[in-house]
Amino acid sequence: MPYTVPDLPYDYAALEPHIDEATMRVHHDKHHAAYVTNLNAAIEGTQFDGRPIEQVLAELDLLPEDKQTAVRNNGGGHANHTLFWEIMGPNGGGEPSGGLAKAISDTFGGLDELKSAMNDAGVKRFGSGWSWLVWDGTGLAVYSTANQDSPILSSYDDVPLLGIDVWEHSYYLKYQNRRPDYLEAWWNVVNWPAVESRYEAAI
Ligand code: MN
Repeated sequence: MPYTVPDLPYDYAALEPHIDEATMRVHHDKHHAAYVTNLNAAIEGTQFDGRPIEQVLAELDLLPEDKQTAVRNNGGGHANHTLFWEIMGPNGGGEPSGGLAKAISDTFGGLDELKSAMNDAGVKRFGSGWSWLVWDGTGLAVYSTANQDSPILSSYDDVPLLGIDVWEHSYYLKYQNRRPDYLEAWWNVVNWPAVESRYEAAI
C-alpha cells in the first residue's frame, strides 16, 4: 500500500496573510508530493513497505543500506509535512492551555521564551531544515534538524510535537530571504489544540 499525501485540512488560502496561498499550493501539492513519490519508490519491495512511516523512521537502520538515505530524506519529508499541515490552521495563534501550557512554563519560563528558542533554532539552522519542540521521554526540548531529519530517527528518539519548516520553499515567495520574519509570523497560524493533543498522547 503506497504512501499518499494527506489532503490539507483547510483551504490553501486559509493561512493568509501569514502563509500565502501560492506557497501552500506548491508546498503541499508539489514538494510534499515529491517526497511521497520518492519514498514509495525507495521502500517498494523492502520489509517496511506499507508500515507506518513513524515506525520506518524509528527503525531506519534495519532497511537495506542502499535505501536508508532515500528513506531518511523522503520518509522524513513525508512525516514532517504531514505533521506540519496538522499543527497549522485558520484562526490559529494565541496560547496553549492545560498540561502543555504548564510544561512550557516550567521548562522555558513561558510561551514567549519558547517562541524565542524555536525562532532562534530556526534562524541558526544553516541551509534547510526544521525547528522542533519535542517530548524527549522526560520533558520538553527545542532543537533544529538538518534537511528532512525527523526527531523520530533513532539518533534523536524523540516525539515531535511542533515543527516549523525552515526550508526556503516554505517562505521564499512571500518573505524572500527574511527567514526571521517568516518565523515571527508563523506563530499566528499555530494550531495549539493539535499540538496539545500530540503532547497528551506523548506523555
Ligand atoms: Mn517543506
